[in-house]
Amino acid sequence: MNETSAKLCRVVCALLLLGAGGSCARQKKSPHAATRSHVAPDKKEIGIPVLEYHGIVDTDEELDRVISLNNPKDTNRNALWILTSSFQKQMQWLKSKGYQTISPDDLLAWMDGGNLRVKHPVLITFDDGYKNEQTEGADYLKTLGYVGTFFVSTAVIDHDNSPGRHMTWGDLAAMQDDGMSIHSHTVSHCPLLTKCGNTDKKLDVELQNSEDRIQKKLGGGHRHFCYPGGENNANVREHVKKANYDLAFVGGDTCARQDSDRTGVPRLTINSIKMTPEQEFLRFKKLMLRCVPPK
Ligand SMILES: [Zn+2]
Repeated sequence: MNETSAKLCRVVCALLLLGAGGSCARQKKSPHAATRSHVAPDKKEIGIPVLEYHGIVDTDEELDRVISLNNPKDTNRNALWILTSSFQKQMQWLKSKGYQTISPDDLLAWMDGGNLRVKHPVLITFDDGYKNEQTEGADYLKTLGYVGTFFVSTAVIDHDNSPGRHMTWGDLAAMQDDGMSIHSHTVSHCPLLTKCGNTDKKLDVELQNSEDRIQKKLGGGHRHFCYPGGENNANVREHVKKANYDLAFVGGDTCARQDSDRTGVPRLTINSIKMTPEQEFLRFKKLMLRCVPPK
C-alpha cells in the first residue's frame, strides 16, 4: 500500500468509526472481533466518566504476543489491553483539559448527595492486577499527580502462576501509599454467571472473601467491587449487596450518574479492538466528552 492509499484508508476508517461503529481492523494479523466501539456523537449526559483499563504494554509486538498467548479464541477480552503510548496520550489529554482524578469513595460520596471537590472529575480504574498496570499505569499516573483504582483477584495475587506477571501484595501496599485504591475483582476471577454463580455458597466465597482479604492485607474502609467480564444478574447483585459492597462496577460506554444502580455502576471500557491508535484516541475523546461534569 502506498502512502496516498494508506492516508485514504485512515480517513475512510475514521469516517466509518464515527458513523458506523469502528469496523476497520488494525492493519495487523489479529482478527479481533467487533465490539462496542461505536459512540453516538450527540449523546451527552450529566455524570462522571469512570475509565476501565486492563493490561498496558509498550510495543505492538508485545500486544499481539499477549493476545495470542492468553487465549486466541477470546480476542474480545484480551484486546482490552492497550499500548503504553495510547495510555499516555489519553492521560495527557485529560491533564490538558483540567481533569482531576477521584477515588471510588469520592464517587460514592457524590452519589450520596455530597459535593465533589473537583470541577472535572474522572475515576480511572484497572482490572486484573497485572504488573504492567503498575509499571505502565500507576507509575505514569503518579508523574501527573493522578491516582487510579485497581481491582484485583486475591487468589491470583496470592499465587501468581507466572511469577512477575501480576502485582504482589507489596506492590499493592506501595501503590496504596501513593494514593491508589485497591479493591475486589473476586477471589479467582471465576465467571459469576456460570462456574462460580451456580451455587450461592461459591458466589459468597468469591464476593465476601476477596474484599475481606484485601482489607486484612491493606486496611479497611468502604467496600467496592468489579464483576469479572462484567457478568452479573439479579441473583449475583443480591449477593453483592449481602457482601456489603458500596459500589460494584460494570463495563460499557455510559457515564456514572448520581442515580446509577450501585450494583451496576457503568464505566467507559477502553480497548484496542479493531482500531488503529488514532481511532482509539478519537473514540476515547468521544467517550469522555459525552459525560458532562456535574455542577
Ligand atoms: Zn477481569
